[in-house]
Amino acid sequence: MPQYECICNSCKRFFSKSLTLAEYEEGEIVCPYCESDDVERRWTSLHLVTPKKSA
Ligand SMILES: [Zn+2]
Repeated sequence: MPQYECICNSCKRFFSKSLTLAEYEEGEIVCPYCESDDVERRWTSLHLVTPKKSA
């Protein structure tokens, strides 16, 4: 099951959630902190590595 990183627009907290595609498309994500449904989803399987140059 893909994991999504979510940010709550109400309390500005990050959390991650495992969602099925159906759940994802229904968009029924509720913030575990403040129970707001004003939650933004982000795909988190791809981790972009930004190497820091220490030069
Ligand atoms: Zn919240």
